[in-house]
Amino acid sequence: MTLRRIAFAGLALLLVVVGLLVVFQRPIGTRVLERLADSQVGRDTVATVPDGLHVGLCGTGSPMPDPTRAGPCSAVIVAGKVFLVDSGEGSARSLSRMGIPAGRIEAIFLTHFHSDHIDGLPPVLMQRWIGGTHARPTPLFGPEGVETVANGFNVAYALDGTYRSAHHGAALAPPSGHGAMPMAFSATAAAAPAGLVVYRADGLVVTAFSVDHGPVHPAVGYRFDYAGRSVVFSGDTVRSPHLTAMARDADLLVHEALQPALLSAVERRLDERDMPHLAQIMRDIVNYHATPEQAADTAREAGVDALVLNHLVPPQPLDYGYAAFLGDARKHYDGPITVGEDGMLFSLPRGTDTIARKRLF
Ligand SMILES: [Zn+2]
Ligand SMILES: [Zn+2]
Repeated sequence: MTLRRIAFAGLALLLVVVGLLVVFQRPIGTRVLERLADSQVGRDTVATVPDGLHVGLCGTGSPMPDPTRAGPCSAVIVAGKVFLVDSGEGSARSLSRMGIPAGRIEAIFLTHFHSDHIDGLPPVLMQRWIGGTHARPTPLFGPEGVETVANGFNVAYALDGTYRSAHHGAALAPPSGHGAMPMAFSATAAAAPAGLVVYRADGLVVTAFSVDHGPVHPAVGYRFDYAGRSVVFSGDTVRSPHLTAMARDADLLVHEALQPALLSAVERRLDERDMPHLAQIMRDIVNYHATPEQAADTAREAGVDALVLNHLVPPQPLDYGYAAFLGDARKHYDGPITVGEDGMLFSLPRGTDTIARKRLF
């Protein structure tokens, strides 16, 4: 066969395939959706993990747009229950894609009340209520101010709640389970050297501790201890001796990170493009966040086994860019450092000292 004949046969085959794809577009689309439904609907990651402490990243982004990252959200899975730390925009969708049923959420812990840490709450609260047919509102823990956040969302979504109860019936959507129940604790008490235990049940202890995100007050981090395993969430903070002390010997430290060397590129463009007010905001945010190198310093001083970075500023759409984002962090800490990505799950099984990592999407 000549080269021309081969090319002609190839072209004819391509036309046939394209023709079939066009003719059968509807049945193929239906089949693809059925396959997707088979693999995703009713998926329950929580039921598949062994006893221990498991940390899912349901949002590793920040207010800056990152197509691959929801706003700040971490899910701690313990003994069949799910606890969230913060709920930034998009966290309900991430949880769903991770196969973590919102109906299993036992409580939500807020680190502070910046919009990016709370703007994903309404869909999470709604899905938890309906998904678990809960008759009591979601406990929403936080320092003073959490009442304002909870009550505000409860008011804003009150009508939505009545529509859903009316539509699906009180058995499926009990009116008493709508919204959030504020569980305020004292930020002053959380500033004590040992922090403040804010939750204790079934072997899980959650301790809140103050961090330094001034002028944002209050601002806290959380430590989860269960079955001899531990994970610490920094919340938003600069270098904080209290965080270092509370992270002492923890298995995992999930720490926010802002890389000024990269953010300055954004700031320069804003200045060049005559947007001085936004450029000023880029300069302002550097002074109340920690760099990857500072997060690594905290990890080293606290003696944690592994460091995960979240709340990434600026956005990191490609993992190729992680080396630039990390800067010199690996020189500051010789344990494993992971640049957090949505969908990651870190498993710390009971009775081991291992930390296994996998992707849920
Ligand atoms: Zn903040
Ligand atoms: Zn933030």
